[in-house]
Amino acid sequence: MTNPFDLSGKVAIVTGANTGIGQGIALALAAAGADIAAVGRSAATETVGQVRALGRKAEIVSADLSTIEPVQRVVDETVEKLGGLHILVNNAGIIRRADSVDFTEEDWDAVMDTNLKSVFFLCQAAARHMIKQFENGGGGGKIINIASMLTFQGGIRVPSYTASKSGVGGLTKLLANEWASKGITVNAIAPGYIATNNTDALQKDETRNRQILERIPAGRWGDPADLGGAAVFLASSASDYVQGHVLAVDGGWLAR
Ligand code: NAP
Repeated sequence: MTNPFDLSGKVAIVTGANTGIGQGIALALAAAGADIAAVGRSAATETVGQVRALGRKAEIVSADLSTIEPVQRVVDETVEKLGGLHILVNNAGIIRRADSVDFTEEDWDAVMDTNLKSVFFLCQAAARHMIKQFENGGGGGKIINIASMLTFQGGIRVPSYTASKSGVGGLTKLLANEWASKGITVNAIAPGYIATNNTDALQKDETRNRQILERIPAGRWGDPADLGGAAVFLASSASDYVQGHVLAVDGGWLAR
């Protein structure tokens, strides 16, 4: 029997692969055999070096995903540089914090554009390639969107982030419904509280840090590497009959 988690010969786009969760996922996919297109506005030099050290191919694809202008180029450049596209991980995202009574339109639009609009249009561009590949007998595709605890909960002082990540949950299900018959699985990973730049302010706030830790059954912040197993599962044939699922990797946060 072949290993259903083996990603040898697969090409994965990971957005926001230079740091944090994106870097952790890129390395996990590479360790399982995938070649990596590291997409982002900051050059993912460290990630690319680490992927190559694992014996896989890795290329930087520069793109600022605050608009949808680069999405088709991201797909085209990946296919050109790495010879195909089988896995898309929509990880790049931002957060803005302010009381809802003071929240600005700029903070609303910036978060929605990066976390939801660009995610949808990159899914669309990748799916057009994957569907053609499937119809030509070359295997379909795997799309993994990065959701959040705020796909399920309300949060506080992050209205556009909550709206965007709740949107990612709905979009993941909609795209799964449309593309399941076209050889693509669409699922999401909802990370719990993971120690990255995104949560730096929370980790430094003594009260919030204590409150968060008290609620996590695992008793610690997550590490980007903790997302690796879920990403490999959802990127591999092991998950071929898993559709529209939002998989929490949260140390038990949602179980409380
Ligand atoms: P992070 O360390 O801040 O990483 C965010 C990544 O997104 C960075 O690579 C960043 O690039 C990239 N990015 C942001 N805006 C971009 C743009 N306009 N164009 C291209 N790339 C852009 O935070 P993280 O925690 O790893 O976050 C990764 C994802 O996980 C996000 O979607 C976040 O919402 C989600 N998430 C995180 C947590 C957590 O606890 N950390 C929990 C739930 C969900 P730069 O380095 O250039 O800014």
